[in-house]
Amino acid sequence: MAVVRPRRCRGPRQETLLRMLENTLHHAERPDELIVYAGLAKAARDHAALATTITALRELDENETLVIQSGKPIGVFPTGPSAPLVLMATSNLIGRWATAEHFYELERRGLIMWGGYTAGDWQYIGSQGILQGTYQTLSAVADEHFGGDLAGRLVVTAGLGGMGGAQPLATYLAGGVALCVEADSDRIARRIGSGYLERATDSLDEALDWVAERQRAEQPASVGLLGNAAEALPAMRARGLVPDVVTDQTPAHDLRYYVPVGMSPQEAAELRESDPDELVRRARDAVAEHVRCMLDWQDAGAVVFEYGNNIRAQAAASGVDAFRIPIFMERYIRPLFCRGLGPFRWVAASGDPADIDRIDEIVTREFPGNPLAGRWIPLARRYVRQPEEPGLPARISWLAHGERARLAVLVNDAVRRGDLNGPVAFTRDHLDAGGVSQPLRETENMPDGSDAVSDWPLLNALLTAGSGADLVAIHAGGGGYAGYMQSAGVTAIADGTRAAGERLSAVLTADTGIGIMRYADAGYETAAGAVRESGLRWFG
Ligand code: NAD
Repeated sequence: MAVVRPRRCRGPRQETLLRMLENTLHHAERPDELIVYAGLAKAARDHAALATTITALRELDENETLVIQSGKPIGVFPTGPSAPLVLMATSNLIGRWATAEHFYELERRGLIMWGGYTAGDWQYIGSQGILQGTYQTLSAVADEHFGGDLAGRLVVTAGLGGMGGAQPLATYLAGGVALCVEADSDRIARRIGSGYLERATDSLDEALDWVAERQRAEQPASVGLLGNAAEALPAMRARGLVPDVVTDQTPAHDLRYYVPVGMSPQEAAELRESDPDELVRRARDAVAEHVRCMLDWQDAGAVVFEYGNNIRAQAAASGVDAFRIPIFMERYIRPLFCRGLGPFRWVAASGDPADIDRIDEIVTREFPGNPLAGRWIPLARRYVRQPEEPGLPARISWLAHGERARLAVLVNDAVRRGDLNGPVAFTRDHLDAGGVSQPLRETENMPDGSDAVSDWPLLNALLTAGSGADLVAIHAGGGGYAGYMQSAGVTAIADGTRAAGERLSAVLTADTGIGIMRYADAGYETAAGAVRESGLRWFG
């Protein structure tokens, strides 16, 4: 049943952005610290900055732009009716200074924060945001290595945090059996509570019995194992186990958040405060052992890939030959990016899940040719629980260039007609065709060698801002990711007005348009074909 939430801002677009901020914090793994996911990705610099941001959004006029620097509001400018309401730059450091050490020094002095991809710019929708991407990746693994089916296949991974928490359900939906090692019992309880994980144990024997039983029956399953990945994986190897698929979602990118062997998460948190260098030293040893085990399994025939947490780079720093493990992106996801297909999502500002149901119906009706959405929407409707108040119902569905703009305009029309109960915010992960350069992840092994060129996400941000997006953010890496990434985020709101329809069409065409041009420019023929089909002017 719809809950009518009182509007506190001067317009529906400002109100929607405020609700997106609140929704992001609602989903946060550590809300007291404003930390949303990935160890330390935050939604606001500190509590004072958060309070000022909320006041600024409440007082913001349609013709104004609020400027936010690394999670702290700086000022409001008179701009114009089609200018973004909010512009952000988060965690950007001049190249030579873009190191974890310098980032932490600035953070200690309260001068910077890391926004991850979707935390700092209020686009986080909980673990659902990565659920379909993980499902797509595992489905691609199934297609390439297992004849299109993960039935009876064991997927071993670790980390059940904000992002990693999607792994058990994604494996289940792809038909496989997931065994997920997690060091923190609270995180396990949270994933069971949200329906993303079926059951858990602290006994390796019991976990192995459970997965073996479901593998024999060729039934999907998800099992959590309370333990440390750097201990539990080698213990499995010692028993002669070779999983079918191995990956990882511990926060290895930032060794301050990877729990070392022999410590509880609480003890690791205390050491992080008292002696972070010692914590990092111990975590580095553990990561090296963790990755050695992954390599052994790869050599024994398992399909092993890094799932974007920089664990290879961390292990390589200890002399492990970790880059023999491939990155998931190049092999399984980039072919989709070449068509502008990526993690598009929308959020119902009304708080009414019925709005998401209605948009599901529009997607199903309008895009019968999109096999990803066709398979995904029924699964999402069945298995994804929408958050409790004050969280906002949301949906992720990978849509391509052209499809996104079309859907947003149709939804805007539905808002205008009153078929939906409130505005809808359209956004996406930065992990998308147009959104990011990250040479050890999204842009690893580009055919023209342009992996580290960060012009592309910067152009994306300029273009979407110029096209009238409601919020545009330029992010770089912080903490362990400092110097590793540059990305851009965008949110555009359907409030039912004609102006919103025009803005949505322009923004979402620009966003994926520059994405497919980026891949076409790098030499991908599929992307060049998509650009030609798009009718956009291209000088390639
Ligand atoms: P998070 O901080 O919310 O959760 C990490 C979890 O790992 C925590 O629950 C923690 O208890 C657990 N953990 C830490 N050390 C462990 C150990 N040694 N053994 C077992 N469990 C351990 O982080 P998150 O948001 O889930 O992100 C995880 C990683 O995935 C990050 O590196 C992040 O950057 C990366 N990531 C990848 C993608 C992608 O698309 N592939 C997207 C977002 C994030």
